[in-house]
Amino acid sequence: MKPPSVLAGEEIRIDKRLPPPSERRTAHKWLKEDALQRYRDENGKGFELYISKIAEEKIRNHATSCVDHKREVMGLMLGGVYTHDEMTYSLVRDVVTTDLEASSVHVKFQREAFEKLFASLDEVGFKYVIVGWYHSHPGHKCFMSSTDIDTQKNLFNQPYHNALVVDPVNREIEVYFMKDGVIRTRDFAIYWDDFENPYHGTTIRKRVVRSDPDRMASPH
Ligand SMILES: [Zn+2]
Repeated sequence: MKPPSVLAGEEIRIDKRLPPPSERRTAHKWLKEDALQRYRDENGKGFELYISKIAEEKIRNHATSCVDHKREVMGLMLGGVYTHDEMTYSLVRDVVTTDLEASSVHVKFQREAFEKLFASLDEVGFKYVIVGWYHSHPGHKCFMSSTDIDTQKNLFNQPYHNALVVDPVNREIEVYFMKDGVIRTRDFAIYWDDFENPYHGTTIRKRVVRSDPDRMASPH
């Protein structure tokens, strides 16, 4: 498998750019208490990762839709890497997804699953950097398994490569990244900004609005 060049650690362009302002960001509602506390502590300084509400909803809906079959889902997170005040951060603007064919609790990521994902990148309608991947652990909490860590090492070994793990049964979410060969957790914020919507003004990929009472409160 030949992954897209951005995955192989090639130099990417990092522009200076203001991160989403604090009034346009929020903590993910599935953060655990300690992560939520860290969010509050760090909200003033900013984060190394911002995930758009659109991308977050897609990830959560994707994971939730496969809960009944205990099926894991997986996708790539697309966006950009920027710098502001000497802090490098990633923006996740959208995701591309695929279901995994395997259906057990401990599923191994087949290389075909990633090939399928890479193939779907051609349809993305904006310029992007792959800033990580996400997958679900339905009912078995958030952590990085040895397979997950191998995937991170092989394909997502840059500091801006995030691994989002979501457990739609226990309603937990966690983001990991690799630094000096060690997996660490990364605090992040959800942001909303219609201007940042890569599909703003177009009719493709309409956002799915669900009547989920748990849905994050929208400012609009
Ligand atoms: Zn996993």
